[in-house]
Amino acid sequence: MDLITAKTEIEQLTAELERYNHAYYVEDNPVVSDYDYDMKMKRLREIEAEFPELLSPNSPSQRVGGEALNTFEKVEHTVQMGSLQDVFSFEEVTQFSDRIEKTVSSPGYIVEPKIDGLSVSLEYRDGEFFRGSTRGDGFIGEDVTANLRTIKSIPMTLTEKIPFIEVRGEVFMSRKSFEKLVEQQELNGEEPAKNPRNAAAGSLRQKNPKITAKRQLDIFVFNIQQIDGADITSHKDSLDYLKKLGFKTVPNYKKYTSADDVLERIAEIGVERVNYDFDIDGVVVKVDDFSQREDIGYTSKVPKWAVAYKFPPEEKETPLIDIEINVGRTGAITPVAVFEPIILAGTSVSRATLHNQDFISDKDIRIGDVIRVRKAGEIIPEVLMSVSHAENSEKFLLPSKCPVCGTPTVKSDEESAIRCPNVDCPAQLMRNIIHFASKKAMDIDGLGPAIIELLLDNKMISSVADLYELTEADLMMLPKFKEKSAGNLVRAIEKSKSNTLDRVIFGLGIRNIGQEAAKLLCDKFGTLEKIMSATKEEILEIDGFGEIMAENVVSAFANERNIQLIERFKGYGMTMYYETKALNDLRFDGLTFVLTGTLPSMTRDEAKKIIESFGGKASGSVSKKTSYVLAGEEAGSKLTKAQQLGITIIDEEEFKNMIK
Ligand code: NAD
Repeated sequence: MDLITAKTEIEQLTAELERYNHAYYVEDNPVVSDYDYDMKMKRLREIEAEFPELLSPNSPSQRVGGEALNTFEKVEHTVQMGSLQDVFSFEEVTQFSDRIEKTVSSPGYIVEPKIDGLSVSLEYRDGEFFRGSTRGDGFIGEDVTANLRTIKSIPMTLTEKIPFIEVRGEVFMSRKSFEKLVEQQELNGEEPAKNPRNAAAGSLRQKNPKITAKRQLDIFVFNIQQIDGADITSHKDSLDYLKKLGFKTVPNYKKYTSADDVLERIAEIGVERVNYDFDIDGVVVKVDDFSQREDIGYTSKVPKWAVAYKFPPEEKETPLIDIEINVGRTGAITPVAVFEPIILAGTSVSRATLHNQDFISDKDIRIGDVIRVRKAGEIIPEVLMSVSHAENSEKFLLPSKCPVCGTPTVKSDEESAIRCPNVDCPAQLMRNIIHFASKKAMDIDGLGPAIIELLLDNKMISSVADLYELTEADLMMLPKFKEKSAGNLVRAIEKSKSNTLDRVIFGLGIRNIGQEAAKLLCDKFGTLEKIMSATKEEILEIDGFGEIMAENVVSAFANERNIQLIERFKGYGMTMYYETKALNDLRFDGLTFVLTGTLPSMTRDEAKKIIESFGGKASGSVSKKTSYVLAGEEAGSKLTKAQQLGITIIDEEEFKNMIK
């Protein structure tokens, strides 16, 4: 390769990697798989190594990918939150250990799974959690303390009151929680998260900690960044100590003294990982002894005493039996590949989305092909390519008519998907009714997909409102119903009339309006009438609502069908107003409390929650701005400081009087 070609390729790779970084770190929505990203980065590093004169300090290979957004306050990391040197083969791991063994004698290695989440720093003063932040670009991250407090596995108080400790961990979403989230997002008609890593990142960077709390994030802590009050000399000791302090440490870490054993352990983790309930994208090998680490040193971006071995994604070839066309609740038409089942990353898969016509045409995927499939992000199978076409096969084109109702499909400019525009399309109707009756919406017990299909097939209903006119006698005409079951269903439908208004709104299935958004609408406007007459600008005043959501609400309530539906709901006596709970008692608004010592009947965390629910702030340190210090037994330096500053000190009794 000559210098000019190298320069052009570097520029091209840089532009691509920057685009991928932005999608991944800023938007939490990757546009390529990690493997493709890693291979591009590897190529960039190779060219830069061959032509060092072309290496720019701004190259993606020289930087940690993220950046702090303006949504949160910025936190400067005293100790840089670096990245790790990636390797993709056992040979490279051996080269790493050879290098180490040339520099230091008889090193010990700790081998740990590499958790595929996002890196955070947690800081504790006197054993109390006071601040947590994201990695950002390694130097400046975002203050996400409030969101981190919602993660139950992060201890708020350590078992020892050490003066100061900063630890680093990986926040992740378990596979189970991810599956639940995707199910919910699909139900809400939202774009589902691509993989647990990005779902975790998106959840941690929510403006509203209540949303983060619902996402059930978890953490594994893997490092002490700084410590004051304990002397630790090896990684193994620090992990053991972190455990003792109450942290959930990275699981299955083990120490080895031979490079061969390290390789064996990496292979073992590769097999074990299918049974983990969380994603890992590799294995980290770290020199154990801290003084040896100092001798080995760092580059500007990564330590030289550690290496991250990344697993190659598992890929398999299989015959494509069919391309199914699905019609979603909002009419979106999605092609789905149906192939001979294969085992990938430990689970059997037989279907994968083909997204849209562009995807199919670009890869020229045809029914009868042998296709190559891999699991990206461990969970979602992805069709990579067509390996070969069958004889006489034809190019696949999405139908121009809805496969269910025959209405010609439409394509809007801003979306790559095509839709069936017919709101009466049985496929849409069926999904709409399933959504309306579902647990999270109107929660109509006993009205599942099979019964809804039966009712539709027998022309007993053609909209959700028709449900409210069903009688026991009607149902008894159907094969599945006896007197008791018919009575139960009619009662369950009747009962749903007294559901809160947010459920009714969520049940209507307005695009992008999930449960949370429905509640926010109710909180702001109180009655359905007011929501229906709200303007886009008024809706946009709600924190958490964007343009598209507001537009969707306005157009849903301008839609004649919905207006009629709501008129009928009113006629049946359904709840059309929302009782906002007495949440608005903000008696501690503007007040800052500091908690110290052990309270007789509540934990500090409970007291803190109470303070926050009344609009107050709980802070970790006493200053002139502190309004009250709530002190329990064995209160330490904070109490002394409060006395010095003349701040009002209260006990639990007085606190309880304040919240009566
Ligand atoms: P990295 O994933 O190569 O490794 C470093 C990170 O590993 C650390 O920040 C740490 O948080 C984490 N980690 C997890 N478990 C650990 C353990 N036991 N010990 C130490 N660290 C542990 O580097 P990165 O900078 O976080 O991310 C880069 C990677 O992200 C890329 O290699 C790529 O796979 C992915 N990425 C993908 C895209 C995309 O578009 N698909 C874009 C950007 C980045």
